[in-house]
Amino acid sequence: MALVVRGAIKDYDWGIIDGLAPWAGVSTGAPQAELWFGVHPGGPSPLVDPAGETTGTHLASLFDVESIPLLVKLLAAARPLSVQVHPRRLLAQEGYDAQIADPDAPRIYADPFEKTELLIALEPFQAFAGWRDPATAARFLEAVGLQAQTAALDAAIALVRAGEVTAALPLLLAASSAPAIACLAAAAREIGLSRAQVDAYAVVAAEYPDDPGALLTPLLDHVELAAGEAVFLPAGVPHSYISGIGVEVMTSSDNVIRLGLTSKPVFVEQALAVLDADAAPQVIRVGIGDTIWPVSSPFVARLLSAGSERMPAGAYRIALAIEGTAKVFSEGVDITLHPGTAAVMSAVDPDARIDVDGLVAVIQSTER
Ligand SMILES: [Zn+2]
Repeated sequence: MALVVRGAIKDYDWGIIDGLAPWAGVSTGAPQAELWFGVHPGGPSPLVDPAGETTGTHLASLFDVESIPLLVKLLAAARPLSVQVHPRRLLAQEGYDAQIADPDAPRIYADPFEKTELLIALEPFQAFAGWRDPATAARFLEAVGLQAQTAALDAAIALVRAGEVTAALPLLLAASSAPAIACLAAAAREIGLSRAQVDAYAVVAAEYPDDPGALLTPLLDHVELAAGEAVFLPAGVPHSYISGIGVEVMTSSDNVIRLGLTSKPVFVEQALAVLDADAAPQVIRVGIGDTIWPVSSPFVARLLSAGSERMPAGAYRIALAIEGTAKVFSEGVDITLHPGTAAVMSAVDPDARIDVDGLVAVIQSTER
């Protein structure tokens, strides 16, 4: 039967102060970055009883990743997250195995699984996702070089212009300097990028004035999402969420390989191996109630504000309440969900139905 969980909270420094309080049920006066709903060992979700009280057990003590193959998060970003890339399944398995075999190796992989993710905006949301077209990226970096009066970027710019974007990454990191980073917003304005983009680069420079990874952001495309819209990031696509609150759906993995905008370690060589030139983000311009099913996505999602929806057996399902209430009916039992609680059903659990009065994210695995 359906079980009910709360999220496991993450207080990463880029989170919004009390940004997840409506769903976490607590105000901490500190950054609240993510709430995790799943069985990943990095944030096991506590089970709650019908009154909403935690039972002392976790979902992961009842189910493994085979039964709960997705990790769903609520995410609140006050400032840019790291520029990052996630591995495909085979690379994750190889990297994780190599790490197990060598105790002295750096801990890069958290698990042996692919991380493919979808961000559904709950309010206006901004991200850097995928590569900009090389000509614009080269013009942008040229403008940075001119404004900062440095020729240090020239070799990298030549590579970008030739379409060799990944080859340019180590050169850009090596050539990065505080004066160049300080020119990002002015350069963005000079080449005619949107006001939102100019503002995003001003934030990057203000938050990360000495972080070499800041100079990688001109290479990345800028995506603005309205509430209800989504961006799908297959493994291998570089990205950095900039700001906003959203629901994130992913395969159950925490494999993050960082290139910059972080106080955590960066692994450039490993990131270059994981970047996939053939993978691209998919921006999905839909509204509440529409199905979000990106091409080759292992999950399908929908935000529902009213009405009734079937959640048929045969696949993992999760319904996460965001606003108002929802009722899940299954096997003659009904469960009421309040914001920040989620009903989870494994593939072998029977058919269920959900009645929504508020806002709920309904997500289902599409892999057996
Ligand atoms: Zn990511």
